[in-house]
Amino acid sequence: MKWKNKGHEFDEDGYMLQGMQEVFLYGAVQMAQDLIRLIKWGSSYINWRVHIIDRDSEKQKAGLCGYSVLSPETFFQMKHKNSFVVICTSPSVETEIRELLSKHLEKDTPVFSHWSFLYQHLPIYFLYAHNKVFFPSESMLPTTVCNLKCRDCLNFTPYIQKHHVASLDELKRNVDLFFRAVDYIYLFQITGGEPLLYKDLQELLEYIDLNYRQQIFKLELVTNGTVLPSDELCAYFSNKKIHIVLDDYRMTLPNKNDVFIQIREKFLKYQVNCLENRVDQWFRIYIPGQDYPEFSEEELIQKFDVCGTPWSSLREGKIALCNYAMYADTAGICKAPEDEFFDLTHYKESDKKSLVEFRLRYSAKGYTEFCKQCNTYINGNTFLCRPAIQYREDAE
Ligand code: SF4
Repeated sequence: MKWKNKGHEFDEDGYMLQGMQEVFLYGAVQMAQDLIRLIKWGSSYINWRVHIIDRDSEKQKAGLCGYSVLSPETFFQMKHKNSFVVICTSPSVETEIRELLSKHLEKDTPVFSHWSFLYQHLPIYFLYAHNKVFFPSESMLPTTVCNLKCRDCLNFTPYIQKHHVASLDELKRNVDLFFRAVDYIYLFQITGGEPLLYKDLQELLEYIDLNYRQQIFKLELVTNGTVLPSDELCAYFSNKKIHIVLDDYRMTLPNKNDVFIQIREKFLKYQVNCLENRVDQWFRIYIPGQDYPEFSEEELIQKFDVCGTPWSSLREGKIALCNYAMYADTAGICKAPEDEFFDLTHYKESDKKSLVEFRLRYSAKGYTEFCKQCNTYINGNTFLCRPAIQYREDAE
Protein backbone atom coordinates (compact mmCIF):
# COMPACT_ATOMS: atom_id res chain seq x y z
CA MET A 1 0.00 0.00 0.00
CA LYS A 2 1.18 3.46 -0.74
CA TRP A 3 1.04 5.96 2.10
CA LYS A 4 -1.62 8.58 1.48
CA ASN A 5 -2.10 9.81 5.04
CA LYS A 6 0.97 8.66 6.96
CA GLY A 7 0.31 8.23 10.68
CA HIS A 8 -3.47 8.12 10.12
CA GLU A 9 -3.99 5.20 7.72
CA PHE A 10 -5.78 3.15 10.37
CA ASP A 11 -7.71 5.89 12.16
CA GLU A 12 -11.11 4.58 11.15
CA ASP A 13 -10.44 0.93 12.14
CA GLY A 14 -8.52 2.04 15.22
CA TYR A 15 -11.34 4.15 16.66
CA MET A 16 -13.83 1.37 15.88
CA LEU A 17 -11.68 -1.30 17.61
CA GLN A 18 -11.06 0.89 20.67
CA GLY A 19 -14.67 0.48 21.76
CA MET A 20 -14.91 -3.30 21.41
CA GLN A 21 -15.95 -5.32 24.45
CA GLU A 22 -16.77 -8.77 23.10
CA VAL A 23 -15.24 -11.20 20.64
CA PHE A 24 -17.01 -14.20 19.09
CA LEU A 25 -14.64 -16.88 17.80
CA TYR A 26 -16.50 -18.80 15.11
CA GLY A 27 -15.16 -22.39 15.06
CA ALA A 28 -14.14 -24.38 18.17
CA VAL A 29 -10.86 -25.48 16.62
CA GLN A 30 -7.10 -25.23 17.22
CA MET A 31 -6.99 -21.68 15.75
CA ALA A 32 -9.54 -20.53 18.32
CA GLN A 33 -7.55 -22.22 21.12
CA ASP A 34 -4.46 -20.37 19.97
CA LEU A 35 -6.33 -17.05 20.02
CA ILE A 36 -7.71 -17.77 23.50
CA ARG A 37 -4.14 -18.37 24.73
CA LEU A 38 -3.04 -15.15 23.04
CA ILE A 39 -5.92 -13.18 24.59
CA LYS A 40 -5.03 -14.57 28.05
CA TRP A 41 -1.34 -13.75 27.49
CA GLY A 42 -2.26 -10.17 26.57
CA SER A 43 -4.87 -9.80 29.30
CA SER A 44 -3.28 -6.61 30.67
CA TYR A 45 -4.48 -4.96 27.46
CA ILE A 46 -7.16 -7.23 26.04
CA ASN A 47 -10.24 -7.40 28.21
CA TRP A 48 -12.90 -8.52 25.76
CA ARG A 49 -15.49 -11.07 26.84
CA VAL A 50 -14.77 -14.20 24.78
CA HIS A 51 -17.46 -16.44 23.26
CA ILE A 52 -17.03 -19.45 21.02
CA ILE A 53 -19.48 -20.65 18.40
CA ASP A 54 -19.64 -24.00 16.63
CA ARG A 55 -22.42 -25.92 14.94
CA ASP A 56 -21.04 -29.27 16.17
CA SER A 57 -23.24 -30.37 19.10
CA GLU A 58 -20.41 -32.51 20.55
CA LYS A 59 -18.19 -29.43 20.75
CA GLN A 60 -21.06 -27.49 22.33
CA LYS A 61 -21.25 -30.15 25.06
CA ALA A 62 -17.48 -30.31 25.59
CA GLY A 63 -16.71 -26.56 25.58
CA LEU A 64 -13.26 -25.21 24.72
CA CYS A 65 -10.49 -24.10 27.11
CA GLY A 66 -13.03 -23.68 29.90
CA TYR A 67 -15.41 -21.60 27.74
CA SER A 68 -18.86 -22.77 26.74
CA VAL A 69 -19.44 -23.26 23.02
CA LEU A 70 -22.62 -21.67 21.64
CA SER A 71 -24.68 -22.93 18.74
CA PRO A 72 -25.00 -20.52 15.77
CA GLU A 73 -28.73 -20.19 16.54
CA THR A 74 -28.04 -19.01 20.12
CA PHE A 75 -25.42 -16.61 18.80
CA PHE A 76 -27.80 -15.10 16.24
CA GLN A 77 -30.40 -14.41 18.93
CA MET A 78 -27.92 -12.39 21.03
CA LYS A 79 -27.44 -8.60 20.85
CA HIS A 80 -24.14 -7.71 19.23
CA LYS A 81 -23.27 -4.24 20.41
CA ASN A 82 -19.53 -3.42 20.59
CA SER A 83 -18.64 -6.90 19.47
CA PHE A 84 -16.87 -8.50 16.54
CA VAL A 85 -16.46 -11.95 15.03
CA VAL A 86 -13.26 -13.79 14.13
CA ILE A 87 -13.76 -16.72 11.76
CA CYS A 88 -11.46 -19.54 12.87
CA THR A 89 -11.66 -21.93 9.94
CA SER A 90 -9.87 -22.75 6.73
CA PRO A 91 -10.38 -20.25 3.85
CA SER A 92 -12.53 -22.81 1.96
CA VAL A 93 -15.19 -22.82 4.72
CA GLU A 94 -14.83 -19.11 5.45
CA THR A 95 -16.92 -18.01 2.46
CA GLU A 96 -19.83 -20.16 3.58
CA ILE A 97 -19.66 -18.79 7.15
CA ARG A 98 -19.43 -15.21 5.90
CA GLU A 99 -22.61 -15.73 3.86
CA LEU A 100 -24.40 -17.14 6.90
CA LEU A 101 -23.24 -14.26 9.10
CA SER A 102 -24.31 -11.66 6.54
CA LYS A 103 -27.86 -13.04 6.70
CA HIS A 104 -28.11 -12.95 10.50
CA LEU A 105 -25.89 -10.18 11.84
CA GLU A 106 -26.39 -6.44 11.89
CA LYS A 107 -24.56 -4.87 8.93
CA ASP A 108 -22.11 -2.97 11.14
CA THR A 109 -20.84 -6.00 13.13
CA PRO A 110 -17.20 -6.43 12.04
CA VAL A 111 -16.25 -9.90 10.79
CA PHE A 112 -12.54 -10.76 10.42
CA SER A 113 -10.71 -13.83 9.22
CA HIS A 114 -8.31 -15.36 11.74
CA TRP A 115 -5.43 -14.20 9.56
CA SER A 116 -6.56 -10.58 9.16
CA PHE A 117 -7.36 -10.36 12.86
CA LEU A 118 -3.86 -11.46 13.87
CA TYR A 119 -1.93 -9.70 11.12
CA GLN A 120 -3.92 -6.49 10.88
CA HIS A 121 -6.61 -5.76 13.44
CA LEU A 122 -4.85 -6.83 16.63
CA PRO A 123 -1.84 -4.56 15.93
CA ILE A 124 -4.28 -1.71 15.17
CA TYR A 125 -6.21 -2.42 18.39
CA PHE A 126 -3.02 -2.32 20.52
CA LEU A 127 -1.99 0.95 18.89
CA TYR A 128 -5.27 2.84 19.18
CA ALA A 129 -6.62 1.39 22.41
CA HIS A 130 -3.35 1.24 24.39
CA ASN A 131 -0.70 3.19 22.46
CA LYS A 132 1.37 -0.01 22.25
CA VAL A 133 3.25 -1.43 19.28
CA PHE A 134 2.23 -5.05 18.65
CA PHE A 135 3.81 -6.85 15.70
CA PRO A 136 2.29 -9.97 14.18
CA SER A 137 5.71 -11.44 13.37
CA GLU A 138 9.34 -10.77 12.55
CA SER A 139 12.19 -13.05 11.57
CA MET A 140 15.93 -12.72 12.10
CA LEU A 141 18.77 -14.62 10.39
CA PRO A 142 21.91 -15.26 12.45
CA THR A 143 23.56 -16.63 9.30
CA THR A 144 22.81 -16.94 5.60
CA VAL A 145 24.98 -20.09 5.44
CA CYS A 146 23.11 -23.33 4.76
CA ASN A 147 24.26 -26.91 4.20
CA LEU A 148 21.62 -27.33 1.46
CA LYS A 149 21.47 -25.49 -1.85
CA CYS A 150 17.77 -25.54 -2.68
CA ARG A 151 17.09 -24.14 -6.12
CA ASP A 152 13.92 -22.41 -4.96
CA CYS A 153 15.10 -21.37 -1.52
CA LEU A 154 13.14 -18.32 -0.39
CA ASN A 155 16.38 -16.90 0.97
CA PHE A 156 17.95 -17.37 -2.49
CA THR A 157 20.89 -19.24 -0.91
CA PRO A 158 22.34 -20.58 -4.21
CA TYR A 159 22.80 -17.03 -5.48
CA ILE A 160 24.53 -15.56 -2.44
CA GLN A 161 28.08 -14.60 -3.44
CA LYS A 162 29.24 -13.55 0.01
CA HIS A 163 27.53 -15.10 3.02
CA HIS A 164 26.82 -13.04 6.08
CA VAL A 165 27.45 -14.59 9.49
CA ALA A 166 26.37 -12.02 12.06
CA SER A 167 28.38 -11.60 15.22
CA LEU A 168 26.57 -12.26 18.48
CA ASP A 169 26.98 -8.57 19.39
CA GLU A 170 25.40 -7.52 16.09
CA LEU A 171 22.40 -9.77 16.72
CA LYS A 172 22.01 -8.58 20.32
CA ARG A 173 22.06 -4.99 19.08
CA ASN A 174 19.40 -5.84 16.49
CA VAL A 175 17.19 -7.44 19.10
CA ASP A 176 17.70 -4.50 21.51
CA LEU A 177 16.73 -1.98 18.84
CA PHE A 178 13.73 -4.06 17.87
CA PHE A 179 12.32 -4.40 21.38
CA ARG A 180 13.01 -0.74 22.16
CA ALA A 181 10.39 0.04 19.49
CA VAL A 182 8.12 -3.01 19.62
CA ASP A 183 6.26 -3.68 22.87
CA TYR A 184 4.81 -7.09 22.00
CA ILE A 185 5.04 -9.62 19.20
CA TYR A 186 3.03 -12.69 18.31
CA LEU A 187 5.79 -14.63 16.52
CA PHE A 188 9.52 -13.97 16.73
CA GLN A 189 11.30 -16.37 14.42
CA ILE A 190 14.97 -17.36 14.16
CA THR A 191 15.62 -18.70 10.71
CA GLY A 192 18.34 -18.78 8.08
CA GLY A 193 20.34 -20.00 6.26
CA GLU A 194 20.38 -22.90 8.65
CA PRO A 195 20.30 -21.52 12.20
CA LEU A 196 21.71 -24.76 13.70
CA LEU A 197 24.97 -23.95 11.90
CA TYR A 198 25.31 -20.73 13.87
CA LYS A 199 27.85 -21.35 16.61
CA ASP A 200 26.44 -18.85 19.14
CA LEU A 201 22.82 -19.92 18.72
CA GLN A 202 22.26 -20.91 22.35
CA GLU A 203 23.80 -17.65 23.64
CA LEU A 204 21.52 -15.70 21.29
CA LEU A 205 18.42 -17.57 22.48
CA GLU A 206 19.46 -17.13 26.11
CA TYR A 207 19.85 -13.39 25.56
CA ILE A 208 16.39 -13.11 23.99
CA ASP A 209 14.91 -15.26 26.73
CA LEU A 210 16.50 -13.30 29.56
CA ASN A 211 15.63 -9.86 28.24
CA TYR A 212 12.56 -10.09 26.03
CA ARG A 213 10.73 -13.38 26.45
CA GLN A 214 7.82 -11.66 28.23
CA GLN A 215 7.20 -9.58 25.10
CA ILE A 216 7.09 -12.58 22.75
CA PHE A 217 4.05 -14.84 22.52
CA LYS A 218 5.77 -17.46 20.40
CA LEU A 219 9.54 -17.81 19.98
CA GLU A 220 10.28 -20.12 17.07
CA LEU A 221 13.28 -21.61 15.31
CA VAL A 222 13.05 -23.17 11.85
CA THR A 223 15.51 -25.90 10.87
CA ASN A 224 15.82 -27.80 7.60
CA GLY A 225 15.82 -31.25 9.22
CA THR A 226 19.28 -32.20 7.98
CA VAL A 227 21.55 -30.90 10.78
CA LEU A 228 21.78 -32.86 14.01
CA PRO A 229 21.74 -30.48 16.98
CA SER A 230 24.02 -31.16 19.95
CA ASP A 231 22.70 -32.72 23.15
CA GLU A 232 23.46 -29.49 24.97
CA LEU A 233 21.30 -27.51 22.54
CA CYS A 234 18.46 -30.07 22.71
CA ALA A 235 18.59 -29.89 26.51
CA TYR A 236 18.23 -26.12 26.16
CA PHE A 237 15.32 -26.50 23.72
CA SER A 238 13.61 -28.82 26.19
CA ASN A 239 12.81 -25.89 28.48
CA LYS A 240 9.73 -25.44 26.26
CA LYS A 241 10.23 -21.70 25.86
CA ILE A 242 11.05 -22.23 22.22
CA HIS A 243 9.03 -23.89 19.50
CA ILE A 244 10.96 -25.74 16.77
CA VAL A 245 9.69 -26.16 13.21
CA LEU A 246 11.40 -29.24 11.78
CA ASP A 247 11.17 -29.16 7.98
CA ASP A 248 10.97 -32.56 6.34
CA TYR A 249 12.50 -32.66 2.85
CA ARG A 250 12.92 -36.45 2.63
CA MET A 251 10.50 -36.71 -0.28
CA THR A 252 13.13 -34.96 -2.46
CA LEU A 253 16.21 -35.80 -0.38
CA PRO A 254 15.86 -39.48 0.66
CA ASN A 255 19.57 -39.54 1.59
CA LYS A 256 18.67 -37.25 4.53
CA ASN A 257 16.33 -39.83 6.05
CA ASP A 258 18.85 -41.13 8.62
CA VAL A 259 19.73 -37.73 9.98
CA PHE A 260 16.05 -36.74 10.10
CA ILE A 261 15.25 -39.86 12.17
CA GLN A 262 18.14 -39.07 14.54
CA ILE A 263 16.89 -35.48 15.00
CA ARG A 264 13.37 -36.74 15.64
CA GLU A 265 14.65 -39.23 18.25
CA LYS A 266 16.73 -36.58 19.98
CA PHE A 267 13.81 -34.16 20.08
CA LEU A 268 11.62 -36.91 21.55
CA LYS A 269 14.27 -37.81 24.14
CA TYR A 270 14.58 -34.19 25.25
CA GLN A 271 10.82 -33.53 24.90
CA VAL A 272 11.42 -30.61 22.56
CA ASN A 273 8.32 -28.65 21.59
CA CYS A 274 8.48 -29.44 17.88
CA LEU A 275 6.28 -29.45 14.79
CA GLU A 276 7.27 -31.60 11.83
CA ASN A 277 6.60 -29.64 8.67
CA ARG A 278 6.22 -31.65 5.47
CA VAL A 279 4.74 -29.91 2.45
CA ASP A 280 4.09 -31.38 -1.00
CA GLN A 281 4.87 -28.27 -2.99
CA TRP A 282 6.88 -25.11 -2.97
CA PHE A 283 6.20 -22.12 -5.16
CA ARG A 284 8.99 -20.54 -7.18
CA ILE A 285 9.15 -16.92 -6.19
CA TYR A 286 12.17 -16.15 -8.39
CA ILE A 287 13.21 -17.82 -11.63
CA PRO A 288 16.48 -16.47 -13.05
CA GLY A 289 16.16 -15.15 -16.59
CA GLN A 290 12.36 -15.16 -16.54
CA ASP A 291 10.82 -12.39 -18.67
CA TYR A 292 8.54 -9.86 -17.02
CA PRO A 293 6.62 -7.03 -18.65
CA GLU A 294 7.51 -3.40 -18.00
CA PHE A 295 5.19 -2.72 -15.07
CA SER A 296 3.77 0.75 -14.59
CA GLU A 297 3.91 2.35 -11.12
CA GLU A 298 0.20 1.58 -10.58
CA GLU A 299 0.66 -2.04 -11.66
CA LEU A 300 3.52 -2.52 -9.21
CA ILE A 301 1.47 -1.07 -6.35
CA GLN A 302 -1.37 -3.39 -7.30
CA LYS A 303 0.99 -6.39 -7.53
CA PHE A 304 2.36 -5.64 -4.07
CA ASP A 305 -1.16 -5.33 -2.62
CA VAL A 306 -2.43 -8.53 -4.24
CA CYS A 307 0.68 -10.44 -3.16
CA GLY A 308 -0.05 -9.61 0.46
CA THR A 309 3.01 -11.33 1.88
CA PRO A 310 2.84 -10.84 5.63
CA TRP A 311 6.52 -11.55 6.37
CA SER A 312 9.18 -9.13 7.42
CA SER A 313 12.76 -9.59 8.53
CA LEU A 314 15.13 -7.70 10.81
CA ARG A 315 18.63 -6.80 9.60
CA GLU A 316 21.18 -4.23 10.73
CA GLY A 317 18.69 -2.43 12.96
CA LYS A 318 16.14 -2.14 10.16
CA ILE A 319 12.94 -3.97 9.38
CA ALA A 320 12.14 -4.85 5.79
CA LEU A 321 8.90 -4.05 3.99
CA CYS A 322 9.07 -7.50 2.39
CA ASN A 323 11.57 -10.08 3.63
CA TYR A 324 11.92 -11.65 0.16
CA ALA A 325 12.97 -8.28 -1.27
CA MET A 326 15.54 -8.08 1.52
CA TYR A 327 16.81 -11.61 0.84
CA ALA A 328 17.06 -10.78 -2.89
CA ASP A 329 19.17 -7.77 -1.90
CA THR A 330 21.45 -9.95 0.27
CA ALA A 331 21.82 -12.45 -2.57
CA GLY A 332 22.76 -9.70 -5.04
CA ILE A 333 19.67 -10.36 -7.20
CA CYS A 334 18.04 -6.97 -6.78
CA LYS A 335 19.19 -3.94 -4.82
CA ALA A 336 16.71 -2.84 -2.15
CA PRO A 337 16.75 0.95 -1.71
CA GLU A 338 16.61 2.54 1.73
CA ASP A 339 12.89 3.36 1.48
CA GLU A 340 12.14 -0.39 1.66
CA PHE A 341 13.37 -0.45 5.26
CA PHE A 342 12.22 1.13 8.51
CA ASP A 343 15.34 2.21 10.36
CA LEU A 344 14.97 1.55 14.09
CA THR A 345 18.25 3.20 15.05
CA HIS A 346 16.65 6.67 15.24
CA TYR A 347 13.23 5.48 16.44
CA LYS A 348 11.19 7.95 18.53
CA GLU A 349 7.84 7.66 20.38
CA SER A 350 6.24 9.85 17.72
CA ASP A 351 7.11 7.22 15.04
CA LYS A 352 4.76 4.61 16.55
CA LYS A 353 1.94 4.93 14.06
CA SER A 354 4.18 5.05 11.01
CA LEU A 355 6.12 2.02 12.31
CA VAL A 356 2.95 -0.06 12.66
CA GLU A 357 1.71 1.15 9.27
CA PHE A 358 5.03 0.18 7.68
CA ARG A 359 4.89 -3.28 9.28
CA LEU A 360 1.34 -3.63 7.96
CA ARG A 361 2.73 -2.94 4.46
CA TYR A 362 2.47 0.80 3.94
CA SER A 363 5.42 2.63 2.40
CA ALA A 364 6.27 5.77 0.45
CA LYS A 365 6.46 3.93 -2.89
CA GLY A 366 3.90 1.18 -2.22
CA TYR A 367 5.99 -1.65 -3.66
CA THR A 368 9.56 -3.02 -3.70
CA GLU A 369 12.07 -3.07 -6.53
CA PHE A 370 12.08 -6.87 -6.36
CA CYS A 371 8.32 -6.90 -7.15
CA LYS A 372 9.46 -6.28 -10.75
CA GLN A 373 11.00 -9.77 -11.00
CA CYS A 374 9.17 -11.75 -8.32
CA ASN A 375 6.36 -14.24 -8.90
CA THR A 376 4.60 -13.16 -5.67
CA TYR A 377 4.20 -14.98 -2.39
CA ILE A 378 1.41 -17.60 -2.81
CA ASN A 379 -1.40 -15.26 -4.00
CA GLY A 380 -1.32 -15.46 -7.78
CA ASN A 381 1.85 -17.61 -7.92
CA THR A 382 1.33 -20.51 -10.32
CA PHE A 383 4.96 -21.66 -10.48
CA LEU A 384 4.89 -24.76 -8.32
CA CYS A 385 7.66 -27.31 -7.80
CA ARG A 386 8.81 -30.10 -5.50
CA PRO A 387 10.34 -28.86 -2.23
CA ALA A 388 14.12 -28.72 -1.83
CA ILE A 389 15.23 -29.57 -5.39
CA GLN A 390 18.98 -29.00 -5.23
CA TYR A 391 20.56 -26.30 -7.38
CA ARG A 392 22.80 -27.30 -10.28
CA GLU A 393 24.64 -24.47 -11.95
CA ASP A 394 24.54 -26.18 -15.34
CA ALA A 395 20.72 -26.48 -15.10
CA GLU A 396 20.07 -22.71 -15.16
S1 SF4 B 1 5.68 -9.56 -5.15
FE1 SF4 B 1 7.53 -10.51 -4.22
S2 SF4 B 1 8.86 -8.78 -3.69
FE2 SF4 B 1 6.78 -7.96 -4.05
S3 SF4 B 1 5.84 -7.94 -2.01
FE3 SF4 B 1 5.31 -9.90 -2.95
S4 SF4 B 1 6.89 -11.34 -2.24
FE4 SF4 B 1 7.65 -9.27 -1.87
